[in-house]
Amino acid sequence: MNPLYDALIAPCADREGGFLLRPDGSVLLGYSEFVGQVGRYAHALSDLGLEPGDRVAMQLEKSPEMLALIGGCIAAGLVFLPLNTGYPAAELAYFVENSGARLFLCDPGDREALAGLERFARIECLGPGGAGSFAARAAGCDSAFAPVARGPDDLAAFLYTSGTTGRSKGAMISHRNLLSNARVLVESWHFTDEDVLLHALPIFHTHGLFVATNVALLSGARMIWLPKFEVETVLEALPRATTMMGVPTFYTRLLDEPRFDAALAGHMRLFISGSAPMLEETHRQFEARTGQRILERYGMTETNMLTSNPYDGERVAGTVGPPLPGVELKVCDAEGKALPDGEVGMIEVRGENVFCGYWQMPEKTAAELREDGFFITGDLGVIDARGYVSIVGRGKDLIISGGYNIYPKEVEAVIDAVEGVLESAVVGAPHGDFGESPVAVIVEEAGAEVDLGAVQTALDEALARFKHPRHFDVVEGLPRNTMGKVQKAALRERYKRVFG
Ligand code: ATP
Ligand code: MG
Repeated sequence: MNPLYDALIAPCADREGGFLLRPDGSVLLGYSEFVGQVGRYAHALSDLGLEPGDRVAMQLEKSPEMLALIGGCIAAGLVFLPLNTGYPAAELAYFVENSGARLFLCDPGDREALAGLERFARIECLGPGGAGSFAARAAGCDSAFAPVARGPDDLAAFLYTSGTTGRSKGAMISHRNLLSNARVLVESWHFTDEDVLLHALPIFHTHGLFVATNVALLSGARMIWLPKFEVETVLEALPRATTMMGVPTFYTRLLDEPRFDAALAGHMRLFISGSAPMLEETHRQFEARTGQRILERYGMTETNMLTSNPYDGERVAGTVGPPLPGVELKVCDAEGKALPDGEVGMIEVRGENVFCGYWQMPEKTAAELREDGFFITGDLGVIDARGYVSIVGRGKDLIISGGYNIYPKEVEAVIDAVEGVLESAVVGAPHGDFGESPVAVIVEEAGAEVDLGAVQTALDEALARFKHPRHFDVVEGLPRNTMGKVQKAALRERYKRVFG
């Protein structure tokens, strides 16, 4: 038994035709080619002397080869660590050393710049189109490989968190964690082998890797495989897709494009959004333009997916829907006691999907994973009477001013509704009298000019005085990472001296 291999890869051998498709519908990688490549890569990994449980780190451009390499790691019983392609050599060194990886794979073009990593791990290269030393090793290997036996609680991956609130943490993720969640998602989102998923997300992150790819492999859906999100290519590919998964910025970029209309989206079965909060405005604009409601869901590296708006029932803008089957979710006080519906608190979750702890961070693991199995997510939320969850913000972004809690999202929502405001971010800055005070950072809609007097009036009408920002700044854009997450830590740093 090898749970992930048996459920995700072995069935590919019985499927025909294209697994990964180009935007024009032609085949980029066939199923039989994929299975064969997984087998050859598994042999090459074993031939390098890697043993079950060893870690394999990789920083690779998104490619069919990278996907097959991950498959090869699963087959060979190895723990794979896909790393963000944005990390420079200095940051990579931390991850490669910290993980204790025995092998590190990079693109052939980066080999020289990354030579310093040899102190920690053997380096091999794998480039798109089968370039590089690792591809050359694998070329001579047999395509048939008997998967190494693994149990459900064996680790499959270390996935590093996005580093939004601090240094990225390596989440240890087991076969059971991944498979249980993929099963729930296939069912909840009605994926079948008739689906074609438009895949424009990176695969070093849980969204593109474990949500999108695992769902496709488990259901037999094919994927239109795009190296990244480019509006032009997405418009070309959409007529051949049935579903799409994206971060909110994918949807705002599509909406900025007049050619994206009801005719182009009409045949699509499902649009899914996650990884960062989607503005209610985006949800409404999307529905007005296409007649379709984006399904927003919520999850994180440590837990995979936790909640989802319903496939059949009402998808409510500004919420992330009820917990998925098999996920226990409660909104708690600091001691972990569940609060009544309607009260804001810390979201805690339990289920087969919850990770096994942070690699080499026993204290952090103990602080965030309770003995009864509940994981303290770090997100603040509220559950309404129907059981729908709304994310209010991250615990670390909570502003405490004069002893009162201010939830940034509540203030942002008021500002966002003012004419001419595209979006806003509210962060706390140190303040002599109050400890902290809110600062509002505002982005204007294209061609609009925001009247700060109107913003103040809106705040006066909607919110208690202590929640009002005491400093406003209009900027060109909010700092975001590759997953479209607003970097509030960077904003806090930028405004840390505004109150003197
Ligand atoms: P780090 O843990 O290193 O600070 P991170 O939490 O951003 O980084 P990820 O695991 O990639 O790393 O992201 C998970 C987080 O993304 C969640 O905890 C939540 O704050 C946010 N998130 C995901 N989906 C949604 C959503 N639909 N709405 C609001 N927030 C979301
Ligand atoms: Mg996190």
